[in-house]
Amino acid sequence: MTDTVSTPAPVFSVPQERRIVTAVPGPKSQELHERRLAVIPTGVSSALPVYIAKANGAILVDVDGNQFVDFGAGIGVTTVGHTETAVVEAAAGQLQDVIHTLFTITPYEEYVRVAELLAEHTPGDHAKKTVLVNSGAEAVENGVKIARKFTGRRAVAVLDHAYHGRTNLTMAMNYKAMPYATGFGPFAGDVYHAPNSYPYRDGLSGAEAAARTIAYLEKVVGASDLACLVAEPIQGEGGFIVPAEGYLAALQEWCTANGVVFIADEIQSGMARTGAFYASEHFGVVPDLVLSAKGIAGGLPLAAVTGRAEIMDAAQPGGLGGTFGGNPVAAAAAIAVFETIERNDLLAEGRRIEKALKPALEKLQEKYDIIGDVRGIGAMIAVELVKPGTAQTTKEPNPEAVNAIVAAAAQQGILFLNAGTWGNVLRFLPSLAVSDALIADAVSVIDDAIAAL
Ligand SMILES: *Cc1c(COP(=O)(O)O)cnc(C)c1O
Repeated sequence: MTDTVSTPAPVFSVPQERRIVTAVPGPKSQELHERRLAVIPTGVSSALPVYIAKANGAILVDVDGNQFVDFGAGIGVTTVGHTETAVVEAAAGQLQDVIHTLFTITPYEEYVRVAELLAEHTPGDHAKKTVLVNSGAEAVENGVKIARKFTGRRAVAVLDHAYHGRTNLTMAMNYKAMPYATGFGPFAGDVYHAPNSYPYRDGLSGAEAAARTIAYLEKVVGASDLACLVAEPIQGEGGFIVPAEGYLAALQEWCTANGVVFIADEIQSGMARTGAFYASEHFGVVPDLVLSAKGIAGGLPLAAVTGRAEIMDAAQPGGLGGTFGGNPVAAAAAIAVFETIERNDLLAEGRRIEKALKPALEKLQEKYDIIGDVRGIGAMIAVELVKPGTAQTTKEPNPEAVNAIVAAAAQQGILFLNAGTWGNVLRFLPSLAVSDALIADAVSVIDDAIAAL
């Protein structure tokens, strides 16, 4: 008797391959781009102005019929794959039933179910509650609001190289002023930027880096005024910076000892991105509040603040919410995302992608001295590029090389995103549907692009 259950191979409506049939961008994309320039402000930019008509699995198809392997996934949003069947069906079904009521007027089950699933899958087995909102930045804003109300304290601490969004408060929380904040002030006050752990550049152990961060918080802010510390377990826009071992656990311990709410911004690193449901798990950390967004609803706009029930309940009735927060269609899609992660064992897929990608990139590192660091976990892997001969010394950032690789890959039908405080990090943030063959192909395209520099 056998009781093995085989997972059916995913069925894709678009062949999972790159295919370039016109110039990139092609004539139809160029025509659309002309129309766009007349009506869309320059502040909204596009990394690769090919206009997408269809997407499935790990592939984007543009209006000219070019197919791109997508290593950006809309910045880690379509983690379960573009137009994942379960997500499409759940959203379509929900569209027929209820599109909107506003949960704070007349509620519906889907919001409650998403909160139950988040309580189950976020780190820690304490009682948890969730508020649903529309965007990552809105989740950050609400996390800070709730922490301030709970503690009765004013100050907010963030880490160097952080990214938290583009609203007024989150602009003040980002590390990089340009392009996110420059000229858009005045900014929210009481935001403090503490040194982070950046093993490649600071060479500190987790304990040393934590001591430095904590010294800053105690001297510059003062624990008794500090409402929360907001930290990305793996920094996203900052360049997939994985903190040294023990760093986050030491910060959490300090926060707990000092009555500071520890908020994990898992907007990019969460939702099965790293081979765990939340990246915090890799570091043995149980945050007080966890922020989810990006990958949570397969591409529909949804975000969440999930946290200890007593902290979440600090906000007065009517203090949390918003017109579209927890929209039924987005919530139904999120339920399908959770089910898909379980059904298709997508945590294992994240580990598979790391195994296919990281050793291949480390091989490139042996070959090319401009590769300073290869790092990351699961399907969140990055390569930090430096000027020739500086990888072990001054580690001078090399954004020109990243731009050249990204441009060359786009011409070949592969979409990569850059990242990093200096724009010198090439990031791999594919959907979990990307195959080992597509990964090997992408690495060889990068190999050729670096060789041609
Ligand atoms: C993208 C991101 C945000 C902001 O999310 P939006 O939905 O763009 O507002 C916040 N934090 C992290 C870590 C992110 O990656």
